[in-house]
Amino acid sequence: MKKQQYIDRAEQAFYKVYNRFPVVFDHGQGVYLYDTDGQEYLDFGAGIAVMGLGYGCRELNDAMKHQIDKLCHISNLFYNEPAIEAGEKLLKVSDMEKVFFTNSGTEAVEGLLKIAKRYAYDKGMAPDYEIIAMKHSFHGRSIGALSLTGNDHYQKPFAPLVSGIRFADFNDLDSVKALWSEKTCAVIMETIQGEGGIYPATEEFLTGVRALCDENEALLLLDEIQCGMGRSGHMFAWQGYGIKPDAMSVAKALGNGVPVGAFLARGKAAAAMVPGDHGTTYGGNPFVCAAASKVLDLFEEKRIVDHVREIGAYLWKRLDELVERYDCLVAHRGKGLMQGLELTVPAGPLVTHALLEEKLVLISAGRNIIRFVPPLVIEKQDVDEMVKRLANAIEEVIFQK
Ligand SMILES: *Cc1c(COP(=O)(O)O)cnc(C)c1O
Repeated sequence: MKKQQYIDRAEQAFYKVYNRFPVVFDHGQGVYLYDTDGQEYLDFGAGIAVMGLGYGCRELNDAMKHQIDKLCHISNLFYNEPAIEAGEKLLKVSDMEKVFFTNSGTEAVEGLLKIAKRYAYDKGMAPDYEIIAMKHSFHGRSIGALSLTGNDHYQKPFAPLVSGIRFADFNDLDSVKALWSEKTCAVIMETIQGEGGIYPATEEFLTGVRALCDENEALLLLDEIQCGMGRSGHMFAWQGYGIKPDAMSVAKALGNGVPVGAFLARGKAAAAMVPGDHGTTYGGNPFVCAAASKVLDLFEEKRIVDHVREIGAYLWKRLDELVERYDCLVAHRGKGLMQGLELTVPAGPLVTHALLEEKLVLISAGRNIIRFVPPLVIEKQDVDEMVKRLANAIEEVIFQK
């Protein structure tokens, strides 16, 4: 079938909440994607930071096929071995004490929100307790997660949202202190802001917020959905700061394309909810957990975190060269294989041109930031190829040297 026919059918059928790029992808291998016309694309978006191990990972596919033939679902009324395996492995790499599997990142954030609320309830704080979240954050689209997302554009059409959420300026400890009161029960943030434009928390900020939470017996909740699973050059980004959250959310790369997330907790956060407080039908089913379990094995076998550090440093150097060369590139931020380039102009036309003309998949963050979140298994030659294609796109679209 012709590409345009697919697109017409999709636009006819789908609820219109996305403006999609006019490409119909068919299959993938390694760090390359192929569309229905057989064209090959270099992928630096990884399905929004999901495909950490790349496409068509043989060992992972075999593990998933094996589990499909055994058992896909049984509900949380019973135990299953893949969930136990995946849970133990996740606790080991995160140094947390308890895990709950979800179907998405948003639901993992909902879990963090419920932990905070349940914790405040147990402490006997009046029902007007408060949670401090960050401006320009992104935590998901459900009403709870949206309530924590510091973006007026996303929030406004759905107000009123969950009450008691105050927004501080990310990386500004004084702004957190200014919002703090005896009502504050928790602080939530992304360790590295993703959608907001690739801003890593500064060490001063994160350790400062941790200290505030400790002094006031409040919970520190970290959203590691995008920056976690090796992407920052640590298994979880907070591990690079010498602090530990009370609870955290994981998703995206955890299932390498299979929808699975988790929230993890320790200490008082691990005991906040009791039987009957939370649940899910699909969450943690044997199929998705067989995938997550294998992903965690492969991260270890392939030494993904070390690889991210090495290639991340190389990507950093190559992108810095572009910043030197082109006036339209004004800032370069990030960690590991989560980097962003800030443009003087909107990123949309450049990203579209790179996709359609240079066959390079890039995604933007905010209005004028290009986000680099490639599969974690990319090699130096993939970085070189990406830089070549991106430089072409910049010259063709922006004409600024
Ligand atoms: C993607 C993302 C979410 C939402 O995850 P979904 O799987 O889309 O529900 C939440 N927080 C962060 C930081 C994300 O990047």
